[in-house]
Amino acid sequence: MFKPASEHERHLRVEMPEQRSLFSLLGLAALWAAFLLVLLAVNTACAAVTVTAARVWPAAEYTRLTLETSSPVKFSQSIVKDPERLVLDLEGIEPNAVLTGLSAKVGADDPYIRLVRVGRFKPGVVRVVLDLKTEVKPSVFTLPPVGEYGNRLVVDIYPAQAVDPLMALVESPRQAAQGEQDVPDQGRDKAVVAAPDAPVAKAEPAEPRSLQAESQNIGPEKTLKSEKRKPELQVTRLVTIAIDAGHGGEDPGAQGARGTHEKDVTLAIARRLKAVVDEEPNMRGILIRDGDYFIPLHGRVVKARKVNADLFVSIHADAFIRPDARGSSVFALSERGATSAAARWLAKKENEADLIGGINLDVKDPYLARTLLDLSQTATINDSLKLGKAVLNELGGINSLHKGAVEQAGFAVLKSPDIPSILVETAFISNPEEEVRLTDNAYQEKMAKAILSGIKRYFSKNPPLAKSRLAASGPL
Ligand SMILES: [Zn+2]
Repeated sequence: MFKPASEHERHLRVEMPEQRSLFSLLGLAALWAAFLLVLLAVNTACAAVTVTAARVWPAAEYTRLTLETSSPVKFSQSIVKDPERLVLDLEGIEPNAVLTGLSAKVGADDPYIRLVRVGRFKPGVVRVVLDLKTEVKPSVFTLPPVGEYGNRLVVDIYPAQAVDPLMALVESPRQAAQGEQDVPDQGRDKAVVAAPDAPVAKAEPAEPRSLQAESQNIGPEKTLKSEKRKPELQVTRLVTIAIDAGHGGEDPGAQGARGTHEKDVTLAIARRLKAVVDEEPNMRGILIRDGDYFIPLHGRVVKARKVNADLFVSIHADAFIRPDARGSSVFALSERGATSAAARWLAKKENEADLIGGINLDVKDPYLARTLLDLSQTATINDSLKLGKAVLNELGGINSLHKGAVEQAGFAVLKSPDIPSILVETAFISNPEEEVRLTDNAYQEKMAKAILSGIKRYFSKNPPLAKSRLAASGPL
């Protein structure tokens, strides 16, 4: 019996096939739909960049903020005045606890950053605002994954007026306490005199310096004037030893089995070396790095030249693949290849510091071109080898030597065209026994004194006044 369809039924009939097809579509594709939803969720998660680590490296030279991210970050930056702020908009970032935790990592004593604020600016964009203490020159760049690091967004906050290492020396209260006020500018740097009976390279130190006498009686002006009045005195000058603590900041260097970082050991030894150098009547030590922050290799060379260093000593404590490798070694630059496969390997590893520490490759360095104009640094390398030999001899007295001769390779940090430069591998941090010694105060002190003895021995045979660079700087 067929009953004509009512209006309602007809309507249903019209509707039913559509609904059925919809349901059947859903039914058939239920798994697909669910799958797609999951896929979408996964995709969304992948698209959002996650901040996995946030680090802050404050230093007088510059403060660096590093955000490590799950994939490269797109960013834009702008400076806002009154008050000074750096505004960074980061695209596709999910604000998480790591990112917002950045604020707490900036200390009240940070030289440049007062406060960091992080907030969602608009959908898909996180805004990071740095409230600044002074006018700055920021350098913001990304780095691809390297070593143990993932993608990095690096925010370097330089002061608008770069810190002059010589001026910093004058202004440093510690330097002043040590009687180093007599270095107000580069010109006068050369004019400091020593007692006539204290030749620069005298092996035995002259009378110990009295801090009181220096700070009260021998001010810079007095020294200069009295020297001018007595031209018959044999005038020597203060020699400057640039002491470079290897690695630093983002670049921890090698790591020992007990977790000792090379960057900490090198800084400790460098500070001790500066202390013993400063005790010498005619020497002063200048730390290229005096804190836990990164300086590019070339920047270390530039800094040594800015302070008119007479010598450059880079301190390291590297690892080797074999934990039984031990002993100290000294390296100089080579213009043509390395003296051994091990030296080549080490130079390559040291030169990777810039990749790990992170440099902005977009910034052109005018100094670099100038350095490259120096076609040969053979004479400087010869001096470096003499210095290296003298230091190696002294190190032999306190530690076994990894190799009995100074080795050479293409170390970027030793490329000062006119400053004899050596790299001292104090010991192997990868050797468990040496790792322990490297963190021992007494051993660090011995190491510093041995390096100083080597420097003095070098100067006794190669007085600094005989150098042509000094002759070019003119009379006092
Ligand atoms: Zn190193």
